Amino acid sequence: MQIDGMLRQESGQRGATERIGRLFRPESVAIIGASQKGGFATDILTNIKKWGFSGEVFAVNPRYDQIGGVPCFPSLSAIPHPVGLAIIAIPSKAIPAVLDDCAAAGVRAVQIISSGFAEQAGEGATKQRSLTEWAERTGIPVVGPNCFGFMNAANRLMAVPLDFHSMKAGGISAILQSGTLVFSLIVPLLARQIGIGRVVTVGNEACIDVADFIDYFVEEEETRVITCYCEQIKRPLEFIKACEHAADKGKPIVMIKVGRSESARQAALAHTGSLVGSDVAIDAALKKLGVIRVDTVDDLIETAAALSSTKRPHGRRVAFASFSGTAVSMLSDFADSCGIEFPPLPAPVKARLKEVFPEFGNLSNPLDLTAQGDYDTRIIDESLSALATCGAYDVVVWGRSFPSYLDMRSALGQALARAAAAAPEVVFSVMSLAGGHFYTALDPKYPMVEPKADFDGMPFLQGMAPGLKALSALIGYAEFLRNRKPSNRLSSQWGRRSAYYSEAVRIIREAKGDVLTEREGKRLLALYGLPITREALATGADEAARIAQTLNFPVVMKVESAEIVHKTDVGGVILNIPSAEKAAEAFEQIMASVRSHRPEAKIAGVVVQEMAKSGPEIMLGATFDPQFGPVIAFGLGGIWVEALKDVQVLLPPFDAADVQSAIGRLRGASVLRGARGRAKTDLDGLADCIVKFSTLCTDVANEIGEIDINPVILSANGAGLTAVDCLIVKKKRKGV
Ligand code: ADP
Ligand code: MG
Repeated sequence: MQIDGMLRQESGQRGATERIGRLFRPESVAIIGASQKGGFATDILTNIKKWGFSGEVFAVNPRYDQIGGVPCFPSLSAIPHPVGLAIIAIPSKAIPAVLDDCAAAGVRAVQIISSGFAEQAGEGATKQRSLTEWAERTGIPVVGPNCFGFMNAANRLMAVPLDFHSMKAGGISAILQSGTLVFSLIVPLLARQIGIGRVVTVGNEACIDVADFIDYFVEEEETRVITCYCEQIKRPLEFIKACEHAADKGKPIVMIKVGRSESARQAALAHTGSLVGSDVAIDAALKKLGVIRVDTVDDLIETAAALSSTKRPHGRRVAFASFSGTAVSMLSDFADSCGIEFPPLPAPVKARLKEVFPEFGNLSNPLDLTAQGDYDTRIIDESLSALATCGAYDVVVWGRSFPSYLDMRSALGQALARAAAAAPEVVFSVMSLAGGHFYTALDPKYPMVEPKADFDGMPFLQGMAPGLKALSALIGYAEFLRNRKPSNRLSSQWGRRSAYYSEAVRIIREAKGDVLTEREGKRLLALYGLPITREALATGADEAARIAQTLNFPVVMKVESAEIVHKTDVGGVILNIPSAEKAAEAFEQIMASVRSHRPEAKIAGVVVQEMAKSGPEIMLGATFDPQFGPVIAFGLGGIWVEALKDVQVLLPPFDAADVQSAIGRLRGASVLRGARGRAKTDLDGLADCIVKFSTLCTDVANEIGEIDINPVILSANGAGLTAVDCLIVKKKRKGV
């Protein structure tokens, strides 16, 4: 058993990829559970036949000798022909016997549609475990159980229980932890004549999970864009590695990952019987991995359509042109919120367009070609060619008021094609103002209303909001690929330990309470090179005065007690103490105040510490996600951070440049950069400090549950910063 397991690990992902290939390209298929009375399995059988799958098709049912013209056998082993794929849709209790039959008959891949496994309470989990063990023992790949089938448009294997009106093979593939999405996703794509690659519903993922399928689709050449609906990530490390694999190959993943809200979390729970990880961590992880996260199926479709482009924009500069002044006006207002930049027309472009434009035309980006443009091919030609070839734009979008039809033989179609050919570096896109109308024949003149435009693999985008979001995602993905650093792989921080690791663990374990005192915490910060205050503990007023004299005035004094987490709340902090005498007084004042607030708390004494010069305060902290490890957050505002909610999140590993870009994304970035006559702060120092902090967090991820450095004070003179407080809560041990 053990050796078997080791061999499997060694064969690694390549093994899984090869095995999944057997599922999508079997030489023959047997459907177990099909019946002359109809049902799930029979619907699958009918579809496979209808769409003309090229291999042999068999049914297995002891009661019949044929079902709908398909030969039927009493068992798999009775089939006088090798069986590539067995699709099983019978009650779960009958499955073990069929699996034995599969092994005996040399079946090469299995899909189990049936439910009654881990998604159900009681015996379900045990049944699923035996299924997993069977798959591991035999090496036969199993998809499901509790799934809704799969399809491969390329070989017309439509092993799903509902039918489509049309089919077109193409580059958008899907991995779905949901059955219904097969139709919500695929039907609109097909209605728009956008080609489908392979689609799989993964069910309970007893043997093959989302990570395996991502890996497979990365390697498989027909797939250009991987779409995914995901409720749970079963094996975070494998998932991360699969996404990194996709990024290495430049193959985009567009994903709906549910679990943003508590109610979605509960729905996901009920649906799959497994937990959804914390959303902030997932969001940060997906960003780091370059996975494009969307919230709705409409956005999934539009984004996958945009990412189907064989081109990647070189920058964010977008030009938009349309015959519709309305589109142009709306877009000008909308530009900011869609995350797309519309830089103004360069002077030479304006000069060129003045020659052909009517007097009343307004030359700007977005550009209104006016209704007259529709009749004057010179206007169309000159405008598109100027926008495409001027070098000022990375993307040119044609805004179309007619929702879904663009005949490429028309004057406009030809002009677009010419402009696109003249500017191979520029990404072209046609986008309709309104979305979702592609399935309605608006005019009997057009027998089948469908988007016809298609530039370098990018179909006609539908609707301004989803369309622009999709373009923004395309631009963002290209940026991700350009800026990605091979050294900052999320997977590489698994198990990574710095030279300080053992000392750090010792400091944490030495602390007696569940919460480290500020001084204990700061020892840990100092170990990793974070700048902290000089300080010492006083147990009496005289001692406080003596310590104060060894520091520069003014000083700060704070109560020290492992039981008091928020010192200010109990009158435990006094700032700006100007003299030794006042320090002695402050000692008594703090002791009296804390005792009156918290008579039961054990007080170790009062810390006397140097006072940092006032300047912007930063909150720096981390939580530890069970799936993705440390999640580093920082924001402006010290105690105001929660009210301001101006926080950036980063997952290690990252470097100072990554932190600098994250600082730039803070709404309050300008304050730090010295806007409005304020002094510049030490952002290099801050970035360095956050990188060191991430090393600390990666090291102690198994030891601590939460860490807050609130605040780090940035010196107003532009050099230096100091962590003046530190709160560390140990990880709760299991069973404690
Ligand atoms: P609390 O436990 O209440 O968070 P802190 O140690 O953070 O206590 O102190 C409260 C506030 O006092 C801080 O947010 C910061 O503004 C200020 N402060 C604390 N220590 C210092 C210091 N050494 N230098 C300057 N300001 C300080
Ligand atoms: Mg504090």
